[in-house]
Amino acid sequence: MDYEDFFRQELEALRHEGRYRVFADLERHAGEFPRATHYRERGRAEVTVWCSNDYLGMGQNSLVIDAMHLALDRCGAGAGGTRNISGTNHYHVLLENELAELHGKESALIFTSGYVSNWATLCTLAAKLPGCVVLSDAKNHASMIEGIRHSRADRMIFAHNDPEDLNRKLAEIDPARPKLVAFESVYSMDGDIAPIAEICDVADAHGAMTYLDEVHAVGLYGPRGGGISERDEVAHRLTVIEGTLAKAYGVMGGYIAASTALCDFIRSFASGFIFTTALPPSVAAGALASIRHLKASEAERDRQKERVATVRRRLDEIGVPHLVNESHIVPVMVGDPVLCKQISDRLLTQYGIYVQPINYPTVPRGTERLRVTPSPLHSDWDVDRLINALKAIWSEIGLERAA
Ligand SMILES: *Cc1c(COP(=O)(O)O)cnc(C)c1O
Repeated sequence: MDYEDFFRQELEALRHEGRYRVFADLERHAGEFPRATHYRERGRAEVTVWCSNDYLGMGQNSLVIDAMHLALDRCGAGAGGTRNISGTNHYHVLLENELAELHGKESALIFTSGYVSNWATLCTLAAKLPGCVVLSDAKNHASMIEGIRHSRADRMIFAHNDPEDLNRKLAEIDPARPKLVAFESVYSMDGDIAPIAEICDVADAHGAMTYLDEVHAVGLYGPRGGGISERDEVAHRLTVIEGTLAKAYGVMGGYIAASTALCDFIRSFASGFIFTTALPPSVAAGALASIRHLKASEAERDRQKERVATVRRRLDEIGVPHLVNESHIVPVMVGDPVLCKQISDRLLTQYGIYVQPINYPTVPRGTERLRVTPSPLHSDWDVDRLINALKAIWSEIGLERAA
């Protein structure tokens, strides 16, 4: 077989469909969020980032950066081992205590990423619970799907955010079997929010465990940033709350918060936790500072809500279609992969505005979009520039306008 030819053909097929991924080569500027330098084939340009998952700019917050400098100077660069073999640093322990407290759980366990935390936890629970059936929301993230798949447990997909369908599916299962309901709070592409209490009601009625991915909600919702489960006062009803330290907290890493027995079980049996080097102490220290700050400060969340509302209102004024939802995510709908990439390219090259096109398989075909994430640090001037650019591009390309 001509291996190289195979790779090239597969890539060509992606290009043909308009969904070949091109990474923007950026250098972010600490202290000047959301500005970055874009390195192009010829030269470079200053751009404004409008699609970051560093939702509150905490990755550049001076409290976070100072905490990381301090830990770097005190402890050095790497953790030096897996958690079991010399890699557990005091910052990891402090971070786990902080996360358990944030979610009102007995314990927490940190992983090298949110992806790994989902993969390792769901895989281990579903594989080890004898005869376990996993009920997975139809729009769950790839990290959850892959973990469930790798467990080889039986799985059923329930209709997205639909407690009634979940109820029907659970009713079909032998009541004696262990059951695990896996879902998210804020779905990152449509920005819609799960009816957590209703899903917990159904799960409880069938004796099922619940696993909630709060990756796009921690730091952003609830009076202390504990996520939608804190906002809705239902954190105590969930068996496991999972989150990331990489999005609103602005650093890196993932975690679960749950009972002491469950966290100890994952710590003791999950390959994806055991056999990998622990997070650098400076990363744990930065995340800790970020969580502590957002527990006490509402200013960033309040300003973000205002910015999101402003961008939505301005989009309505110029008739650029966007998906209505109650979260901080503003999906500007295009519905075609080639056009979506074209708009994104024009924004970047002609206007110095960076919004990555989102295409299949991240979203279903025909729902291609620009996922705009306004932050507390986007100024009125930034909003004006975004709106004027979209208005001009919508006219140039002759795209349909919303009523
Ligand atoms: C980004 C994401 C993850 C993975 O988190 P990382 O810390 O980036 O690995 C998990 N779940 C959802 C829903 C996500 O969007």
